[in-house]
Amino acid sequence: MAREALLLLGLLLLSASAAASSLPGEVRVLVVLASPSDLYEPSLGRPSPALVDPWYGDHGAEWFREVLAPRLTWYMDSLTYGRVKLEVETTGWLRLPLPLRSPGSISYMDSRDLWVQQALQAAEKRMTAPVDVVVVVDPTSPYDPRFQDVWSRSPGYGWFQPQCRGAMACIVTGTFYGGNGYARDPEGVMVRILAHELAHYLDYRGRGRYTLLDNQGEEFSLMGRAYSGEPLLDPVNEERLLGSRPRSLGRARGEVTLEPRENGQGRSLRFAGDKDYLLEYRLQQIPGAEPRPAVLVWSLGQGAGGETLSLEHRFQGPGEAEVGGLRVRLASMGPGGARVSLASA
Ligand SMILES: [Zn+2]
Repeated sequence: MAREALLLLGLLLLSASAAASSLPGEVRVLVVLASPSDLYEPSLGRPSPALVDPWYGDHGAEWFREVLAPRLTWYMDSLTYGRVKLEVETTGWLRLPLPLRSPGSISYMDSRDLWVQQALQAAEKRMTAPVDVVVVVDPTSPYDPRFQDVWSRSPGYGWFQPQCRGAMACIVTGTFYGGNGYARDPEGVMVRILAHELAHYLDYRGRGRYTLLDNQGEEFSLMGRAYSGEPLLDPVNEERLLGSRPRSLGRARGEVTLEPRENGQGRSLRFAGDKDYLLEYRLQQIPGAEPRPAVLVWSLGQGAGGETLSLEHRFQGPGEAEVGGLRVRLASMGPGGARVSLASA
């Protein structure tokens, strides 16, 4: 009997660890500041402030080391509830062999890939330890009209490649000053883009394929249209990335207390109506931007492009909403939790 009990315990432990996704505890990131030769100003050791945005007049490589790296490290730490620590190193601005534009001869305008490969080649000489992810930073901004031709040919404002050079993954992005309202927080845009792509990296590294819902979850999700602050993952992507197991009500109805998402992973609640729904309570709906608490109601569905995630309702205070044939009522929100009841409509 004792043997059987032990076996059962073993199985339980096994299934518990199988549920957790395989997140690496530490991710070594090298930020490579890669300047095409025609934008580089040798006397300053960085891209010319006259050619790229003057923001760089004030922010050299030390800005990446002292401002960007700590903020990104903190953000990834908080997104993964302390499970992923970044170790970020930054090169100085490197002058690459080719110019950005060179009519009639080869330039980086002809190939983004060539630019990335040459940036990696230049950086490799400076790598003193193995690196998991290389972030290649373009000194131009997608919001600067002078560089719209560059960015209109790119896969996005930031993108991720799983095997970019050997086993190293890479993330390619720009710098986000100039043009529109993003200028108010260029570093925030950059941090969100890098954190978004790093979430793709963690997902891909853990599973060998992409499982996160991308570009869904509106401004309340890092993987959605995150416009400001340092948004959490939506609860579906949190489950997928961190292997969280939220509570599930199934088709049961009644009153529940939701713990704040900030208390740790797996605090959301699943319930079924005409679709699958997720309820979550956040002390800050968007950390850094919307410090007010909210209860968010999400639905999962199927669209032409696959699974969809939509925000069905946002409670910013007590109230009632009809969702999927159910009446969802928020009775109260406080530091300890939010009291929500579900009833048939
Ligand atoms: Zn994405």
